[in-house]
Amino acid sequence: MYPQKFDYFCPDTLEGVIELLTRYGEDARVLAGGQSLIPLMKLRLASPKYLIDLDKLQDLSGISEQRNEVSIGALTRHAEIEESELVQSKLPLLHDAVTVVADVQVRNLGTLAGSLAHADPAGDLAPALLALGARINTVSSSGKATLGMGELMVDAWSTSLGGDQVITEILVPIPPQGSGGAYLKFERRAGDFAVASIGVQLTLDQKGNCGDIVIAMGAVGVTALRAEKAEALLSNQPISDDLLKEAASAASAECDPFSDIRGSVEYKRHLIGVLLRRAVEVALRRAAGEKVKTVHG
Ligand SMILES: Cc1cc2nc3c(=O)[nH]c(=O)nc-3n(C[C@H](O)[C@H](O)[C@H](O)COP(=O)(O)OP(=O)(O)OC[C@H]3O[C@@H](n4cnc5c(N)ncnc54)[C@H](O)[C@@H]3O)c2cc1C
Repeated sequence: MYPQKFDYFCPDTLEGVIELLTRYGEDARVLAGGQSLIPLMKLRLASPKYLIDLDKLQDLSGISEQRNEVSIGALTRHAEIEESELVQSKLPLLHDAVTVVADVQVRNLGTLAGSLAHADPAGDLAPALLALGARINTVSSSGKATLGMGELMVDAWSTSLGGDQVITEILVPIPPQGSGGAYLKFERRAGDFAVASIGVQLTLDQKGNCGDIVIAMGAVGVTALRAEKAEALLSNQPISDDLLKEAASAASAECDPFSDIRGSVEYKRHLIGVLLRRAVEVALRRAAGEKVKTVHG
């Protein structure tokens, strides 16, 4: 199907983008890589009258280290994140996640901010960034704002972004020495969205036990979710098989999946438990300095 007719703009500046968004209100949408918005427009599930392309705002693209954070510009493509040595060395959890987004074609065009704003419940990057404690910088006609991932995510395909609010940058804290992270996804076939996924970021304490731990679950709720009960069981504890099993049961119980073409509620709960155990094991090995490659769930 063809999209409904729309007027197309490609401003040179962020101010120009905000001015157009303010002028056209709910009739306007920004366009980044087009990997989600264009299919929606073709299916007429979205029919903006005004499409505002961000393509000329190349200042909003790139990856750099700033103090204790990695700054990723909103328009940075998934493929650039995948190839970034900085991300590979400092944020292996994010690297795991971005390499399992869709296929090469989508990763060459899709952007990090586009993924977050699209807010697909089965997206890979929201759970990864939730586990890493990322913050989202935005600009709108009211000025600049910074949102935590929990503040950004509202519902399935829905965020707290206002109509004229544009994501400009994603800031990801660099985990301290002695930390390890991993993201594991179970998918029906390569390139598909997750049936269930898990991001785990943990830090070893001086005794080699699990210290702080954050666990984020994907595709098992309307947004990415923290597995807080599992986190409480594992934090500041020596990790044993029995404790991991208990944490896996807790995560299975606290996720909130819905049944769809990818699987039943029971199946997804089961997967969460399995993925949690595997992801914690990889995160622990990475925290101990081992180079571990993840494979899909
Ligand atoms: C075949 C296929 C398979 C896929 N598989 C996966 C997968 O396995 N895992 C996964 O995570 N994703 C997957 N995706 C989704 C894809 O990775 C992202 O949704 C896509 O990259 C969105 O980014 P984009 O730049 O293309 O955004 P667009 O399609 O251009 O925009 C998406 C939405 O974000 C808004 N937006 C874009 N940029 C900004 C900004 N800077 N500020 C505010 N709002 C903004 C747009 O207005 C629109 O509402 C898949 C997509 C396809 C087509």
